[in-house]
Amino acid sequence: MTSVFAKRRRALQARLAQEKLDRLLVTHLADWFYLTGFTGDSGALVISREPGAAATLITDGRFIEQAGTETSGVRIVKQAGALYAAAGDFLRASRGRRVGFDPTQLTVSQHGALTKATGKRVAWHAVPGLVSGLRMCKDAAELAVMRRAARVADEVMTLAAGMLKPGIREFEVAAEIEYQMKKRGASGTAFETIVAFGARAALPHARATGKRLRKNELVVLDLGAILAHYCSDITRTYYVGRASSRVRGWYQAVLEAQGAAIAAVQNGASCGDVDAAARNVLAGHRFDRYFVHSTGHGLGLEVHEEPRVAKGQTRRLEPGNVITIEPGLYFPGVGGIRIEDDVVVHENRTELLTRVSRDFTEL
Ligand code: ZN
Ligand code: ZN
Repeated sequence: MTSVFAKRRRALQARLAQEKLDRLLVTHLADWFYLTGFTGDSGALVISREPGAAATLITDGRFIEQAGTETSGVRIVKQAGALYAAAGDFLRASRGRRVGFDPTQLTVSQHGALTKATGKRVAWHAVPGLVSGLRMCKDAAELAVMRRAARVADEVMTLAAGMLKPGIREFEVAAEIEYQMKKRGASGTAFETIVAFGARAALPHARATGKRLRKNELVVLDLGAILAHYCSDITRTYYVGRASSRVRGWYQAVLEAQGAAIAAVQNGASCGDVDAAARNVLAGHRFDRYFVHSTGHGLGLEVHEEPRVAKGQTRRLEPGNVITIEPGLYFPGVGGIRIEDDVVVHENRTELLTRVSRDFTEL
């Protein structure tokens, strides 16, 4: 039986042939996990174009045993000295002159160590996104895991909403969210949990502080779990007390914008058009200048990955893409509203992974 990892490596080899590369050096954890199953956090993976050629993973003594048990069909090479010098030595000593690397996943000093070690024996080619391009299209097994990760996020969001009583502090809610995720099998949070009360809700990436919840405040909760390596990401906005018609109007505008963007998600639609669907609704309410970020992002092994759902993005959605749709409005000094869900693109339909009610909720 061919493993899912071997299948992915074959797909990558086909891409290397298209790019006329002999080999690809993979230096990003999520990328090498996707291709081999290796979960160690230091290494460099070399994929050769010839079908049948073994992939080679260069890593240090701490990870040799782990790499052996987690991977199959991968040659494990113990690095002598520093990682990138060792990877360069390996590439210089083995066949295939045209070597690609992802320039977004290598620092200048790492690139310097590689080129110094390989000298003229290797011609380096910066080719961004070969592995992240494959990772964009999730297979059935990946989608099954992502449904479970979304379920954890849904359950924890519902629990957290139940904690929103005047007097509670942001960090108490954040701590409970993280504990409840781990109780449900999450290895951790997909990102630093956002719990923002009142005026702090106007900060799209507010860190939880000691602020206490007061009556008549907006609450933004943005949370995500990592379950079996895959991320979920959900945002809900609640109101504690009785909201004014102004606040209700803001909420309805965001909800309408999110609904329009979700409706625009389909196989073949451009990411820029999905972004515009949300932006146009908010512009219709004359709120566009308060929507200060893009509409969404790809989700998978990483919480922010391809494709980007942003203004002007021409990339077209394909079956297997998983994206967030998360328009928001932010009024400095007053508060903010964001509603975020995770959406799967299928051939002829879309699927919402996160399912907590989006109705305006006063607690
Ligand atoms: Zn989020
Ligand atoms: Zn997000």
